[in-house]
Amino acid sequence: MTGKRDIKILTELLDLSGVKVISHRLHVEIGMILQVEQEKPFSICPKCGTTSYKLHQNHRHIIKDLPFGGKEVFLEINRRQFKCEECKKPFSEDLDFVKKKRTYTKRLAHKIIQEVLENNIHSVASKGIVTKDEIERMLKDASEELPNLKPINLKRLGIDEIALKRGHGNYCAVLVDLEQGKLITILSGRTQEIIKQTLMEWGTEVLENIEEVSIDLWTGYKKLVAELMPNAQVVADRFHVMTQINKELDTQRRREKRKVEDLIKKANTTEKSKYEEILTGLKNSKYPLLKNENKLNEEQLNKLIQVKEVSPILKEMHEFKEKIRKIFNNTKDWYSATFKLGIWLSKAKKYFPNSNNTIIRWFSEIVAYFDNRTTSGTVEGINNKLKLIKRLGYGFRNFDNFRIRCVLNWHPI
Ligand SMILES: [Zn+2]
Repeated sequence: MTGKRDIKILTELLDLSGVKVISHRLHVEIGMILQVEQEKPFSICPKCGTTSYKLHQNHRHIIKDLPFGGKEVFLEINRRQFKCEECKKPFSEDLDFVKKKRTYTKRLAHKIIQEVLENNIHSVASKGIVTKDEIERMLKDASEELPNLKPINLKRLGIDEIALKRGHGNYCAVLVDLEQGKLITILSGRTQEIIKQTLMEWGTEVLENIEEVSIDLWTGYKKLVAELMPNAQVVADRFHVMTQINKELDTQRRREKRKVEDLIKKANTTEKSKYEEILTGLKNSKYPLLKNENKLNEEQLNKLIQVKEVSPILKEMHEFKEKIRKIFNNTKDWYSATFKLGIWLSKAKKYFPNSNNTIIRWFSEIVAYFDNRTTSGTVEGINNKLKLIKRLGYGFRNFDNFRIRCVLNWHPI
């Protein structure tokens, strides 16, 4: 038996509006079981809106709630079935605190989702309060209840991508609100069709409002912007330009190394020591050459000096690489940027033929960067967070769960 005083206290502790505790029992093995009931003696017919007092059947079942005092708490609820006096059909009542056909309260789901966002499914499931299946169910429900994912007041859009599995070519497009530094959503792929579908769902009002779109150097994205966002300026992301330049520099580095290794094989003893010296200079020079020079530590700086001594071509290329990086960093306006990039192109052409072509092809989009200095820099920050979620998220059974989790991170429910 539970006394009136206990009932009152337990009802207050439970703190579910419109719900009172009828009785409680404690199972050492299981936890606390509270039998609860809706206070109101009626429900409203979902079909015709008539208030019905006519109880048809009781449907009792047990659901999980937030733990209390280190004990698991179960609620024995009664989802009553009423019979509508108007349309004569039975209906079961809606309970504010638990969704139909769920084995846990909404507030437990909310808490678990927060934990999953900070940890991962395995570790949350291992606490034993809810199972992995229940967590996946919770995430799915949450995604369906997510605020309408149409971006609000989106002016600067970033389109980037993230590899789901390293080296598997499994890429997802990442759409970001650059002004708010927020992920809008991530998509199951990065093809033009997939992105187009999502953009179309946003509707013309959203699309026409977009002023700038930062993309990597892929014409597919450029076409999409031209097709769907009539008022947007495409900005080629400067970091992707640098990636391409670095790639070309690295290719040359490997070429130089191979060349010397071949020479060593064919060389006589006197030549050999000379080539070996060059090879020593080239070895382990990747990061000293590719990393921003101002971020190198002393050891890397020494390496850089060494590699420049043994390879005049890498010396030139490194200096051109640093030069264009500084143009991006320091140029204040569109006009001088055009001028400086023009000079860079004419001088660097013989060292960076591929990058040179790319920059010429994307010249207006690259120069557009200097209008507002729009980059996917924010996107990079978001990408790091996404990578973290990906790592923590080991245990997600499918892409949807990963997406839900990412989106929930920036759009808390
Ligand atoms: Zn009715």
